[in-house]
Amino acid sequence: MSNSSAPCANQIDVAIIGGGQSALAVAYFLRRAGIGYVVLDDQPAPGGAWQHTWDSLHLFSPAQWSSLPGWLMPATSGQYPSREHVIRYLTEYEKRYEIPAQRPVHVTSVAHRGNRLLLSSDHGEWLANAVVSATGTWARPYIPEYAGLADFRGDQVHSAHYRNPERFRGRRVLVVGGGNSGAQILAELSQVCHVTWVTLEAPTFLPDDVDGRVLFERATERWKAKVEGRPDPVPAGGLGDIVMVPPVREARERGVLNSVRPFVRFMNDGVVWADGTRSQVDAVIWCTGFRPALEHLRPLNVVNAAGRVDVVEGRSVVEPGLWLVGYGEWCGFASATLIGVMRSARSAVAEIKDYLSSSKEQTA
Ligand code: FAD
Repeated sequence: MSNSSAPCANQIDVAIIGGGQSALAVAYFLRRAGIGYVVLDDQPAPGGAWQHTWDSLHLFSPAQWSSLPGWLMPATSGQYPSREHVIRYLTEYEKRYEIPAQRPVHVTSVAHRGNRLLLSSDHGEWLANAVVSATGTWARPYIPEYAGLADFRGDQVHSAHYRNPERFRGRRVLVVGGGNSGAQILAELSQVCHVTWVTLEAPTFLPDDVDGRVLFERATERWKAKVEGRPDPVPAGGLGDIVMVPPVREARERGVLNSVRPFVRFMNDGVVWADGTRSQVDAVIWCTGFRPALEHLRPLNVVNAAGRVDVVEGRSVVEPGLWLVGYGEWCGFASATLIGVMRSARSAVAEIKDYLSSSKEQTA
């Protein structure tokens, strides 16, 4: 723990915790505003969660609809860019805007130090006037409770750690989860092994012509309606619904996009269904989502019972010098996407600029 009075070597106006797409969008606007900042990221290289997704993952929007502020993502030959293309883009983006990312630095806590915030990490401390938490969700994969799970002797892999279908070839696999990850991993696995898709309810497939572009337009319409105080104007359908990217469309042509309702419990070599029948299972792929990675904020007492932070447009209601960016709809419409995070990043930096100047006036 830090010595509460010792001077801190690293003093900065703004510290951004996390170095993925959300952090880079915030960095772009801080740089443009001439505000001093640092990015602290616990990964060895740029790219955030994209470094850890499965090999065949592609964006669900074309390149120009997957761009961070200031620089359009270079076009690709295929309709949707690959994960490698995204990682190259994020890496080049950091160089292009000379983003001061320090890696690997894992921030373990953010605490008060007078009227500033002290960040403690495995590579030193930073004393900041304002903090932007952009740590994403990949570090906190979620697996639901199931009776007998501890007895199950088969393989278990969360989508956060799934790479490719090879290790499952010829085996009996359950894919659990009805979102984009579940559909895309089912599509891939169903070509090499026997897969059963388990979803809480019948999955919602978006029309073939609805991809990330339309989802971003819908999010923008919802954002405008909210700003103007109008009711939600667009049909339901957001990032949780399944975008019919080419591999999922191909799986539909093969007739494999059928899901069943959940089993009731595990046995050591399989599962028991609601009707009492049993299936032997060799492996389970959990495509059951993530939770925000916010452990580092616990010392500020801002993490609520739902594991989120109460915010207004991304700014903590409790801690005036804290902003959250990129965690999903609760901290900004479409903020968990490359194109959507621009809006959240721009509004956060506008508020940070006002906050810093008023703080300086008070201490002058
Ligand atoms: P991340 O990319 O997770 O980056 C957070 C960074 O912070 C990571 O490097 C992490 O290691 C680091 N970190 C965490 N905790 C700490 C700490 N305590 N100290 C220091 N560093 C820390 N988005 C799109 O725009 N288009 C798409 O087509 C798309 N498709 C997707 C498909 C799937 C299946 C999934 C799961 C997601 C998809 N996304 C898509 C969403 C996108 O991948 C994520 O929303 C995005 O990676 C979030 O960016 P981020 O910067 O907020 O978080």
